[in-house]
Amino acid sequence: MDELARQLANLAGNSPLQLLDDPFSEPLAIDLFLKRDDLLHPLVSGNKWRKLKYNILAAREQGHTTLLTFGGAYSNHLYATAAAGQAVGFRTIGIVRGDELAGKPLNDTLRFCQGVGMDLHFVSRDAYRRKDTPEFLADLTDQFGPCYVLPEGGTNELAIQGTAEIMPEIVAQLGHTPDYVCCPVGTGGTVAGLAQSAPEATQVMGFVVLKVPDSLWLSAMPASVATGWRVQNYHFGGYARTTPELLTFIRDFEQKNGILLEQVYTGKMLYGIYDLAQQGYFPNGATVVAVHTGGLQGRSDELDRS
Ligand SMILES: *Cc1c(COP(=O)(O)O)cnc(C)c1O
Repeated sequence: MDELARQLANLAGNSPLQLLDDPFSEPLAIDLFLKRDDLLHPLVSGNKWRKLKYNILAAREQGHTTLLTFGGAYSNHLYATAAAGQAVGFRTIGIVRGDELAGKPLNDTLRFCQGVGMDLHFVSRDAYRRKDTPEFLADLTDQFGPCYVLPEGGTNELAIQGTAEIMPEIVAQLGHTPDYVCCPVGTGGTVAGLAQSAPEATQVMGFVVLKVPDSLWLSAMPASVATGWRVQNYHFGGYARTTPELLTFIRDFEQKNGILLEQVYTGKMLYGIYDLAQQGYFPNGATVVAVHTGGLQGRSDELDRS
């Protein structure tokens, strides 16, 4: 193993699998486990780490030392890319949606990104919409020199290769095949990896946190991957929207289990799992595994007020 591969392996090993103690308010004969990918790395959290790993190796393979990517002002992906870049010695460039943000005080996410060395560039929403066109990418290369470009949200084939490693870890840790494995769905890169490596008897469930469930990646997913899983919609009004009921659920969960969630992804997934369980969706004796995909940098302060 060379230095970068070793560094990557040391950065994040295997994450624990944790059985939740008596999770449901009525007695249900279901074992609910959390795959604690939130513990993979203190800064490069959860599924973003999984998605970056093979991309960083590919970038190096292609002779790059700069990662360039895209995101909104609260993006977990920008945050993770900035932290991973610093950890492995890559320069990072973040193209941020919204030129109205330029020159204003940075929010916590962007301040962190800048603090670990990411160059931030704000572009108008119009320009941002064209970010995947060859012209836009050519402009970026002109401006910044050669760089390895990661898409918004970090999902590409190599990202899915990384998220495909979650399932075999779960099976090995359980010692048997889980009946259900659940994760939140943004671009769909995580659920795609789970579906790709799922044993036949495992049902993969994606909890969609955006209002438009057929997002680009969901519809662009290879058929072999797109058919292996089921989608549940628990978006609570849209991406990053919340309701008092969702926030109350998250506070109760955190207090009872001593495990933090956040309101954009993991809180919605777990709300969905509890809701379905209480409706009798999972058969008696089922083993249900929820992947804690991390993202705690985006946890709302509102969760600490009650
Ligand atoms: C980005 C993110 C997701 C969404 O993952 P996709 O692979 O884009 O579907 C889920 N959970 C957390 C915490 C995230 O940061």
